[in-house]
Amino acid sequence: KQQNSHQAEFLQAAEEIFISLVPVFAQHPEYIKANILSRIVEPDRIISFRVAWQDDNNQVQVNRGYRVQYSNVMGPYKGGLRFHPSVNESIIKFLGFEQIFKNALTGQPIGGGKGGSNFDPKGKSDSEIMRFCQAFMTELYRHIGPDVDVPAGDIGVGAREVGYLWGQYKRLTKANESGVLTGKTPGYGGSLARKEATGYGTVYFVNEMLKDANDSFEGKTVVVSGSGNVSTYAIEKAQQYGAKVVACSDSSGYIYDPEGLDLDAIKEIKEVKGDRISTYVNYRPNATFTEGCTGIWTIPCDIALPCATQNEINGESARTLISNGVKAIGEGANMPSDLEAINEFLEAGVLFGPAKAANAGGVAVSALEMAQDSSRVFWSFEEVDAKLHQIMKNIYTDSKAAAEKYGFPGNLVVGANIAGFIKVADGMLTEGVY
Ligand code: NDP
Repeated sequence: KQQNSHQAEFLQAAEEIFISLVPVFAQHPEYIKANILSRIVEPDRIISFRVAWQDDNNQVQVNRGYRVQYSNVMGPYKGGLRFHPSVNESIIKFLGFEQIFKNALTGQPIGGGKGGSNFDPKGKSDSEIMRFCQAFMTELYRHIGPDVDVPAGDIGVGAREVGYLWGQYKRLTKANESGVLTGKTPGYGGSLARKEATGYGTVYFVNEMLKDANDSFEGKTVVVSGSGNVSTYAIEKAQQYGAKVVACSDSSGYIYDPEGLDLDAIKEIKEVKGDRISTYVNYRPNATFTEGCTGIWTIPCDIALPCATQNEINGESARTLISNGVKAIGEGANMPSDLEAINEFLEAGVLFGPAKAANAGGVAVSALEMAQDSSRVFWSFEEVDAKLHQIMKNIYTDSKAAAEKYGFPGNLVVGANIAGFIKVADGMLTEGVY
C-alpha cells in the first residue's frame, strides 16, 4: 500500500480482489508459502514512453504512452489500449491487474496487460489521430508480438485506431503478423462480432443471473450508461431480449426517452457523425437531455448496466437505484461501481454481475480473433456469437460455483475473483519462483 499510495484506482482494484481471496488462502497454504499475492500484484514490467507527433498546425505535441505487461502465466499479455486525458500509471495498472483474472476466467490462453496514453482524441482530425497512432506504435512495436503481447481497443481506441496501429506495426516489422493486435476491421484480419462482443456478453451474463432467479429481460426497464462501443451493443442485445432501454449517456450528460431508446438514432449520432448524445432530442421530441453524468442513476429501472467508465456508481447512486427497485446490475465498464456501491448492492440482495466476469466477452472474442488470425480461417458472425454466448455461460457457472465452494453463495464478486485467481495461482506454482 505504501509503495503505491499515490495510485488510488490501483489500490481500489487490488483491495477488492484481496478481500475476496481471504477464504482461498485459508484452504490453500501452498499459495501463502509461494508468496503468490506479493508476486501477482507486481507487474512483470511497466513500459512508459514519450509519444511525439505533429498536429495539423505543424506544432509538435508530446504525450505519454504506457504498456503494463502484468502476467503471461496464462498466455501472451493481452489487454486494450486506452486513449483518454485521464490516463496515468494508476489507471493502467488497475486495468492490467483486473485483466489477469478476467482473461483467466474466459478459459482462453491469454495473460493480462493494458496500455494507453493521456492523448485526448476529442476534437482531433482523422490525420491527427493517424499520426498519433503511428507515433505511439513507433515505440510500442518493439515490446509486442502475436506470441508476446497482443493489445486491443478500449476507451478512445476503436477499429479506426487499431487499423492505423496495425499499419504502422507492419511497416516497422515487415511481418504480416495480424495476430499482434485485435479489434481489427473484419475482412482485414478482424473477427466478426468483436464490435458487439462486450455489450452482448454483458447482457448474456446478466441473462444467466436472471434465469437462475426465474426471471428474464422481457418487459424490463433498463438504464445503460455511456454511448460508446460497450453501451451501444448492450442496448442492442437488451432490446433483442425484449427489454425497454430508457436512458444512456456520454461524459456531458444523459438522455431519457420514456418510450424506449431509438438505437438507429444513437448509432447515427455516435458511429456515423461522432456527435454528442445531447443531439438525440432532435430525433425524438419526447426525449430529454440532462447535463451531468451521475443523474442517470436516479431514473427508476429494473436493470442497470454501467458501461461508461470507472467509479461512475458511488454509494449514494447505489442507494438511489436500490430504493427505486433495481433487481440486477451488470458491469459492462471496468470497475464502474466503487467498493461502497458494491457492498450496498450485495447487502440489498441485488443480483450483481461484476466487471471481471460480465464484461469478459470482449477479450474472449479477441482471443477468438487471435485463433482465426493464426489459422487464416475466419468464422461467421453466428459461429463467433455462439462461442461468445457459451463462454459467458461458462464464466457465470464457474463464478457461481467458486462463490459456493468458498462459502459465499450468490456473491459473484468473490466467485469471479476466486475462479480467475486460482487458475493463475496454480499456473504460477507450476512455473516456479521468478
Ligand atoms: P468508448 O470510448 O467507445 O465509449 C465510452 C463511453 O463512455 C462514451 O460514450 C463516453 O462519453 C462515455 N463516458 C466516459 N466517461 C464518462 C462519464 N464519466 N460519465 C458518463 N459517460 C462517460 O469506450 P468503450 O465502450 O470501449 O469502453 C467503456 C468501458 O468498458 C470502459 O470502462 C472500458 O474499459 C470497458 N471495457 C471495454 C471493452 C471493449 O471491448 N471495448 C472490453 C471490456 C471492458 P464521451 O464520448 O463523452 O467521452
